[in-house]
Amino acid sequence: MIFGQGVPPANTTEYRITSRTAQEGRTVMGETPFFGHIIDGKEIESADGARFETVNPWTREPWAKVALGGKPEADLAMTAARRAFDTGPWPQMGYAARQELLHRLGDLMETHTDELASADSRDMGKPLAQCRHDVARAALNFRFFADHAKMAVADTLPSDSGHHVYSRFEPAGVVVAIAPWNFPLMLETWKVAPALAWGNTVVLKPAEDTPTSAAILGRLAIEAGFPEGVFNVVHGYGPNSVGEALTKDPRVDRITFTGETGTGRIIATAAAQNLTPVSLELGGKNANIVFADANLDNAVDWSIQSIFRNAGQICLSGSRLYVQRPIFDEFLTQFVAKAEAMKFGDPLDPATEFGPLASEEHFTKVKGYIDSVQEEGGRIATGGVGHGWVVKPTVLVDMPPGSRQVCEEIFGPVVVIHPFDTEDEVVGLANGTPYGLDAQLFTENLHRAHRVSARLNVGTVWVNCFFIRDLRAPFGGAGSSGIGREGGNFSREFFTEPKAVVMQIDPA
Ligand code: NAD
Repeated sequence: MIFGQGVPPANTTEYRITSRTAQEGRTVMGETPFFGHIIDGKEIESADGARFETVNPWTREPWAKVALGGKPEADLAMTAARRAFDTGPWPQMGYAARQELLHRLGDLMETHTDELASADSRDMGKPLAQCRHDVARAALNFRFFADHAKMAVADTLPSDSGHHVYSRFEPAGVVVAIAPWNFPLMLETWKVAPALAWGNTVVLKPAEDTPTSAAILGRLAIEAGFPEGVFNVVHGYGPNSVGEALTKDPRVDRITFTGETGTGRIIATAAAQNLTPVSLELGGKNANIVFADANLDNAVDWSIQSIFRNAGQICLSGSRLYVQRPIFDEFLTQFVAKAEAMKFGDPLDPATEFGPLASEEHFTKVKGYIDSVQEEGGRIATGGVGHGWVVKPTVLVDMPPGSRQVCEEIFGPVVVIHPFDTEDEVVGLANGTPYGLDAQLFTENLHRAHRVSARLNVGTVWVNCFFIRDLRAPFGGAGSSGIGREGGNFSREFFTEPKAVVMQIDPA
């Protein structure tokens, strides 16, 4: 690690620059990697030099050190982002110039796929192959939103009164993006890319369990040539730390948050004090419905992906699986066999399909649900707790409808399977939760597919598939799963101030 000369920031606090470029930020062999904050175009330590360790859930050993920020670093990043928006070139640069820089960042991300993917894999234990897929998706986020902002068409309204009316989408200002740990880079870029493409400046706070890919992204943004202060990354915790300071700051124009429903409520309360608009992508307890007329192999394969990919740590996972009675036994047999055949191992092994949970704290939470299965009146058909922070692909049957396992988001590789008889019954079961993120539905009957999709109170319905994301489509949840939608024009509407311009054509 190369340490540069210290350059004090605008206020009285001393900040030590750790590296100015991605190249300098590279780890020297044998050293514990260090990741600083990326603020105002520089990688820096915290003012007090505080650091925390990020732990590899497979080895259960720390693998990197990260600058631990607090209120002063949140303030510094906010000041930089505010200045870059209010007086810097970024908002006025135009879509084409921003598009070029965002594509350059996408190129650099692809060149650094190994580094980014192994950072996420080490931080949270996600299999490397899945992390590589996430990097590709993350780079695509920059490409898509850069192009979308350039090509989006705004309304022009013919008017009978001799006026010409059209809409403009002005950048909103400074965007705070707060991310969870389950898809670190992919979800961060989902927020950062449209925010930047529409001319905003950004302060990103990655989750404390998965900070390193965000720091690498910040280094790459410096290398790509982003103006200072346009994209900032501050590491730290939520309550009484960076997260809280950022969400309470009156200089913020938009807050985009993905995480737990309870945290979403706290952030919405903080934002309300400044009337800051929020976009909240929150938890889910999603229904996966398999009708007797489904293509069984397809339904089993997607249902396995839906609950066991990323060790079930997916907000969208189909954790309540409802299978129509005529095929219930056959489905369960095939599903259990495929769950047991998943290739478990070191997440850094490219062949691994299934790894440990992301942290000891999260493992303890998920284990609690497994330990109480019997007491709640249910049965484990397969799975249970493994070595280390591992929960095996776990299938629960006979769980009573009011049990914790059926009602609460476990956020792990644990599925409850129930038989059902009628379409009305299963729609009632699917909608019988405060959440409303998504649902999956397997049937070969076209009428039923449309009919049931319309009746499900969720943000996304996947029919005969899962996890396919079109960035033009709305994404978000109903009820306790969130507020607002992102994607395509939905992101534009959130990250801009839409404006009507009314122009007289003929004074006569
Ligand atoms: P979390 O709410 O604990 O943390 C998310 C982020 O918020 C972290 O960066 C954390 O530091 C920060 N934070 C925590 N308290 C804060 C506060 N008071 N003020 C400001 N920031 C604060 O969530 P998590 O455990 O990281 O992620 C798992 C949750 O995320 C699950 O509930 C999952 O369903 C949800 N999730 C939802 C989506 C979606 O698209 N709807 C996607 C992924 C994950």
